[in-house]
Amino acid sequence: MEKLPNIIILATGGTIAGIAGKTTITVGYTSAAITVETLIEMVPEIETIANISGQQVVQISSQDMNNEIWLDLGKKVNELLSNPDIDGIVITHGTDTMEETAYYLHLVVKSEKPVVLVGAMRPSTAMSADGPNNLYNAVALAGSKNAWRKGVLIVMNDTIHSAREVTKASTFLTDAFQAPGLGALGYIQSNVAHFYKEPTGRHTVNSRFNTEGIDELPKVDIAYGYANVTRVAIDAFVETGSQGVIYAGTGNGSLTDEVMDALIEARSNDVIVVRSTRVGSGLVARNGEADDDMLDFVVSDTLNPQKARVLLLLALTQTTDTKEIQQMFYEY
Ligand code: ASP
Repeated sequence: MEKLPNIIILATGGTIAGIAGKTTITVGYTSAAITVETLIEMVPEIETIANISGQQVVQISSQDMNNEIWLDLGKKVNELLSNPDIDGIVITHGTDTMEETAYYLHLVVKSEKPVVLVGAMRPSTAMSADGPNNLYNAVALAGSKNAWRKGVLIVMNDTIHSAREVTKASTFLTDAFQAPGLGALGYIQSNVAHFYKEPTGRHTVNSRFNTEGIDELPKVDIAYGYANVTRVAIDAFVETGSQGVIYAGTGNGSLTDEVMDALIEARSNDVIVVRSTRVGSGLVARNGEADDDMLDFVVSDTLNPQKARVLLLLALTQTTDTKEIQQMFYEY
């Protein structure tokens, strides 16, 4: 009989660990309530596909995820995966910022082994809770040879996504995770992972980012574009010490005159300016809606604003050269 893979489950909280008083409650429940031990006990089937051990890393709703926890989590994942006896890692996570944590790890993990993030849209006590099946799939995926060298993955609703492309696209549906325009990597069915695509950007062992020895990540913020937008948010970020501002522009990263003035001023104060988009799919074209070469701005390519923030804060640990940072946005 083939040896079962050794998988570590790192639990961080979220709805997958959420509870409510009634099976019909799917909003207004208590998130991040049950421990990793209980999560594992609730899905005894996983013991038939892997040798499991669990660690509770934090117990939070993922809207409270922050740079400090990312730094610790990235280092922990690297330390665990350097152990030849560990075959893969599953991270249970709230769904709200799961794509950001996944992309952060995609850039800082130094291993070819599978790292899979998973959550749930319904609390563990709900009728047809999606957490148990999602967790079972995540363990199967983390133990699958097919998932090696794919970078960090998210599995939700039987669908495998790359950390780079995936986003939460519904506030409550169980198929909330989508990769708009670019598509999923594959599916998981009866604990077999089927891949149909490869992630194309640089990641994990081919990533230049390394957080060993880094205790603090730079401050990078996101300002949102809309009709009648003012420059107040951008000015406030600059005044409070942001080293980078992502502008989630309308359309192809378009800017009003007032926003343009604020961003030019920010750049003249050495703040890195990245034009992204609030649209949710497509790429932001360099020298399209603004003369980026002249203004010394960076464009986000297909990264959404929240992932552009992750890349920029790692970029800023190495350089403030805008040409180099632009190249990173094309490569990662
Ligand atoms: N607010 C929750 C969280 O992100 C939602 C979820 O987990 O689905 O932690």
